[in-house]
Amino acid sequence: MHRYDYIIIGGGIAGTTAAETIRKADSNARIAILEEEKHVLYSRVFLPKYCRNEITREKVMLRSLGDYEKERLDLYTYEKAESIDFVKREVKALSGNIFSYGKLLIASGGSVRASDFEKEFADKIFRLQTLEDAERIRDLVLRNKVNKVLIVGGGFIALEFAGIFLKFEIETSLVIKSKYFWEDYISEAGGVDIAEIFKKKHIEYFTDDEIFKIERTEESGIVVITRNRKKIYADVIALAIGITRNIELGRRVLNIGEGIKVDENLKVKTLPGMEEAGREVYAAGDVIEYFDAFSGKERIIGNWNHSFLTGHIAGTNMAGGSLKFHSTASYSIKSLDQVFTFLGDTDKKWADETIVRRLPLENKYTELFIKNGKLIGAVLINTFQLKPLLTKWIEEGRDLAQIKSALADSDSNLEIL
Ligand SMILES: Cc1cc2nc3c(=O)[nH]c(=O)nc-3n(C[C@H](O)[C@H](O)[C@H](O)COP(=O)(O)OP(=O)(O)OC[C@H]3O[C@@H](n4cnc5c(N)ncnc54)[C@H](O)[C@@H]3O)c2cc1C
Repeated sequence: MHRYDYIIIGGGIAGTTAAETIRKADSNARIAILEEEKHVLYSRVFLPKYCRNEITREKVMLRSLGDYEKERLDLYTYEKAESIDFVKREVKALSGNIFSYGKLLIASGGSVRASDFEKEFADKIFRLQTLEDAERIRDLVLRNKVNKVLIVGGGFIALEFAGIFLKFEIETSLVIKSKYFWEDYISEAGGVDIAEIFKKKHIEYFTDDEIFKIERTEESGIVVITRNRKKIYADVIALAIGITRNIELGRRVLNIGEGIKVDENLKVKTLPGMEEAGREVYAAGDVIEYFDAFSGKERIIGNWNHSFLTGHIAGTNMAGGSLKFHSTASYSIKSLDQVFTFLGDTDKKWADETIVRRLPLENKYTELFIKNGKLIGAVLINTFQLKPLLTKWIEEGRDLAQIKSALADSDSNLEIL
């Protein structure tokens, strides 16, 4: 039995930040991080750059073993937490090790959704979530092992994949289930603009379709037959079908939706009758489901700053502080020579209405998400400079009733409204 004051499950940015924050507040505490992967903290955000060969592996690694030693943080790598006994306050690992805790943080992040075809075509399917995934992709693109790739799925990771393959002049196709890209978020006009970007970059683009069957070809490639009976030949498939949260550890005790539900101090919410078992348990990072006071609903989000911030707040509170989490999430990437940004809550179904500001000739697209007369989110394509202003509007709860028609004028200057 390994005894610790604090056990952190997950050594990503949320877990590591929490551990380091606890250490600052409590110099004597015994702190351990259990991490399923074999690495010290590295940046998932830098993985696309690493795949494009724009940075070295050293740049991707954010900590060294010496950093953990210096902070007296016991990092257990290859140590997957298998179950938690919330009553005894013990974590059992797959290795058989048992860790007892005074306080526990679950910062287990997410994993790429499984695909039905993965087992049979493991050699042909590529993901982009871990450092190992990035090494596999680098091997593919830097050694000229592929001429043609099919990306499956929409979202930011699909755009990252496209950016990587285009950099190496690899012929790229993309198939998405929805009628247009980001259909759950943006209006059709935005989908048209994104389709135009793909066209300019010579990305073959299939919408409202999905893989029905995969067959191997004699030339050691594959042919994907889609639901709409299209045949797409490729050397490999790049899977970008989103992530699911690693929530299994909390079942039967914690209140779990799509993520682990937390209050504003990032303490976990429990099932009725489990309050005592859930005491001294916190969660942070991609795995949490929290109430977003700006949009008025519970949300899960996945982004680096959110994970860093919630890690910091959870760590502070575990060590006796009382910080509250309120933040406007944002995710921004540069790919295909465009800057794509999601700000706040961009759930089209939740918003009462959206306002599209579109300047196709300038490649600019902005969509504003409004709920109860207030801004709750925005999608910005090449209009990143609006982010500070719109963040302010979201956080101030600015009433947009008076300026709605001006907002709808794509040429209006938001700074002076
Ligand atoms: C390719 C890529 C590009 C990205 N680009 C951006 C970007 O540009 N901007 C942005 O804001 N965000 C970006 N993100 C998202 C961002 O990286 C994540 O939101 C962030 O890393 C989440 O941090 P986390 O610590 O919550 O979770 P994770 O990074 O997922 O860390 C959780 C850790 O927990 C471990 N774990 C899980 N279960 C267990 C268990 N049972 N026992 C032990 N360990 C366990 C996992 O191995 C993992 O290391 C990107 C992500 C990827 C994959």
